[in-house]
Amino acid sequence: MADCLIEAKNLYKQYENDEVVTKVLFDLNFKVECGDFLALMGPSGSGKSTLMHILGFLDRLTTGEYLFNGKSVHSMNDDELARMRREEVGFVFQAFNLLAKTSVLDNVLLPTMYTDIPYAEREKRAKKVIEQVGLSHRLDHLSNQLSGGEKQRVSIARAMINDPSIIFADEPTGNLDSKTTIQILKLLQDLNKEGRTIIMVTHEPELTPYTKRILNLLDGRLIKDRPAPFKDVIKEPPEAYTQNASRINGGDL
Ligand code: ADP
Ligand code: MG
Repeated sequence: MADCLIEAKNLYKQYENDEVVTKVLFDLNFKVECGDFLALMGPSGSGKSTLMHILGFLDRLTTGEYLFNGKSVHSMNDDELARMRREEVGFVFQAFNLLAKTSVLDNVLLPTMYTDIPYAEREKRAKKVIEQVGLSHRLDHLSNQLSGGEKQRVSIARAMINDPSIIFADEPTGNLDSKTTIQILKLLQDLNKEGRTIIMVTHEPELTPYTKRILNLLDGRLIKDRPAPFKDVIKEPPEAYTQNASRINGGDL
C-alpha cells in the first residue's frame, strides 16, 4: 500500500459529445487524507460518478488541478494513468461488473493479468483477498452462481488484489438487501481500519454515520463537507436495518 493524498483544486469537468457540452462539476476544492472514509452523497445526476472516475484515473478533468500525492494527474500520459489505475486504486460498482460464467478466482485475478508477476504469486494473492472477504469456499464457483452479496464480496476482493491505497465504491450496496448491506459496510470498515482510504457513493443516509466524513454534491457543486462519527457496524448496526436484519438472520450479525 502506497501513501495517499488526494487534492482537488478548482476542479471543473464538462463532457463534450459532438456539439453538445454538458457541464458537470464546478469549482471543487477539497483534500482527502490517507485513512479517511468518505460518504459521497447527492441526487442522481449531481456528478458523483463523474467525480469518482476522475479521482480514480478513469477520466480526465477539464480544468483545475488534481494532485495525487502531490503529483499533478493532468500531466500524466495514458500509460502512467493506466499504471495508477492498476496500482493505486480499486473499484467496486453497484452492478458488480464481474465476468459471468467465470470463476471467482479468475474474476479476482483479472486486474493482475497485465502485470509481469508470476502466476503462482498472483494466485497466492488472489486466495488471500478471497479469504479476507470470506469466500474461500467459493473459489471455483462461477460468478453467476453467487448471491448479490457474494458477488459484491468478489468485486471487493478484485478491487483489493493489487493492494490499493484507495478504494472507490460507487453505490456498492445499491442492489443489496439490508442484511447484505451491513456485511458489505463491515467489510469496507475493516479495510479502512487496515489503513485503506475509502470513498463510497451512497444514497442511503442511514449508512453515513458508519463513515468518517460526508461530502454532499448538488448540481456538480460541493455544498457540504462534515465529519461523521465512524460508528462500529457490528456494535451499532444501522438502526433502520436492525429489525429487518434480525428477522432475516436471527439477530446474528
Ligand atoms: P451521478 O453519479 O451523481 O448520478 P453522473 O456523474 O453519472 O451523476 O452524471 C452527472 C451528469 O453528467 C449527468 O447530467 C449525466 O447525464 C452527465 N454525464 C455523465 N456521463 C456523461 C457522458 N459520458 N457524456 C455526457 N454526459 C454525461
Ligand atoms: Mg452515479
